[in-house]
Amino acid sequence: MYSLRLLRKLRRVPPINGFREFASQHKRRPQLGALSPDRLEELRTSFVEGRQELSASDWQEVRQSLLKTYKHIGEHNVDVVILGVCSGPGQLSLAKNYVEFLRSQGTQPNAASLGRLLRVYNAAYHERLLSDVEQDEVLKICDSLQKNHETLDATSCENIIHGLVTTKDHWRRAAPLLEMMKVTSSPSIAAYSAISEKAFSEEDLDKQEDPLSWRLLEEMAQEKKPPKCEVYLALINRLAKEPALVAAQLNRLLNFLERHEILVSRRVADRLLELGQQLPQSLQVSATRLVPPGKCESCQQHFQPVAISDEQFRMLSESFLERVLIRSDVFQRSTPMEVARFKKYVDRTAPYDCVIDGLNVAYSTGTKKSPQQLAKLVATVVSHFREQNKRVLVLGREHMRNWCKQSMHYVQKNASLFLTNNLSHDDPFLLYATLKSGADTDFFSRDLMRSHAFHLGPEMKPIFRRWQQQHQFSLVTQTKTGKLIVKEPIRHRLEAHQVSDTWHVPFCEVYTPHPPESFEVPTNWLCLKLNGPTNEEKSTKETQ
Ligand SMILES: [Zn+2]
Repeated sequence: MYSLRLLRKLRRVPPINGFREFASQHKRRPQLGALSPDRLEELRTSFVEGRQELSASDWQEVRQSLLKTYKHIGEHNVDVVILGVCSGPGQLSLAKNYVEFLRSQGTQPNAASLGRLLRVYNAAYHERLLSDVEQDEVLKICDSLQKNHETLDATSCENIIHGLVTTKDHWRRAAPLLEMMKVTSSPSIAAYSAISEKAFSEEDLDKQEDPLSWRLLEEMAQEKKPPKCEVYLALINRLAKEPALVAAQLNRLLNFLERHEILVSRRVADRLLELGQQLPQSLQVSATRLVPPGKCESCQQHFQPVAISDEQFRMLSESFLERVLIRSDVFQRSTPMEVARFKKYVDRTAPYDCVIDGLNVAYSTGTKKSPQQLAKLVATVVSHFREQNKRVLVLGREHMRNWCKQSMHYVQKNASLFLTNNLSHDDPFLLYATLKSGADTDFFSRDLMRSHAFHLGPEMKPIFRRWQQQHQFSLVTQTKTGKLIVKEPIRHRLEAHQVSDTWHVPFCEVYTPHPPESFEVPTNWLCLKLNGPTNEEKSTKETQ
């Protein structure tokens, strides 16, 4: 109970010291200006944790100290800040106690404070079900926030959503608030996730035609907002209780992950592994790795190739070339004359087996190399492909002419070489020549081609990405003995997919709202086999 003691000490110190004094007492003698930058966190750990309530005078003291210590805290936000500090799942009583304190002082907590309190109810709800009385309290707050305004701002909507989903009978009122959020902004991942998480726990998943849970999940994926882990966990927990739902619902989930190329987190993967142990007759799940060449270590099946169809290649190629022909901005910084010269050159010398971005290769092991070293590297990459009897085009810049004559001579002799002016961007030339050469042609560059993928539009982008994954080589490094370490294209799929009756599902360590776009092969996979629901498991459901 040293917190109280500290608080009493706090009252004795001049107000300007405020929490500085308070927060530092238990660790060292007060040293003004030498405290950690996040004193609110110190306040949280040394003061509110483990407390259920404070006396009115203690709250008063906390409030005054915050107001005096922090420039950014004023009368308008001090209550939200205090409720924010008391926002852990075990601190509902303390947070409610603060709001009671405010009321006892004749202060009506503002909308932001009440919204914050709803978040604390939500945190508690994730640890235990709320009692009927608590659910009534939540509803009262939601009603009071909603009654005065026909349209609420996005933050208020989000707070009310987090309140409503803690109730058994009124959570459906949250869905229209999501629509209301769309008036002023795009609903947040948190708001979407809160509702679909609840819907997965409550809805009649097998009877309802178009359940809200799945509808929201699809909407999130369309909006490129990856659902939070809690959403998947809610579904899996539900399946643990209703095994008859496993086959259809898990299939739907896996298809969803496949279509949107979403990676779940280890937390979700672990829960799936547990589900497999709980319901061995419904599904078998094991953690697995990929072993060369693209095989599952657990079931030994080959992953599905990433290949795009001939028709898809035709569409991709047409839509890129069309953009090149119609929109000159693809060849930004190139003169029309240069572009025309290049097209003529490709028409004359294509098709190639591999198109190499010479400058990109030259600089890929560091930019502080001598022209001799740079040229040598390009020549070594060319010889790497020439040894395999590949027809190679090297794209470069005019200034490369001045590089080591011997190496550049080797390049010119063993590959087609096209040099653009020193200001041009190389990727459009590279993609043009590669696509023009046909569906089997590869290219060599470390560039991720993000902007090109983006500009192809939502329909073509995933096809471009698959084509790129299948055809892009890049230089990892060159060893001291001169050996090239080349990153080969990944010819199998990197997202969840099914081979015969087995699903392979990649997962990442932790959830991130902005997954990076890359062609790294996920290290961790699940090997998952679904069986239809057995009679025994069906009858378990019926007797439940
Ligand atoms: Zn497998």
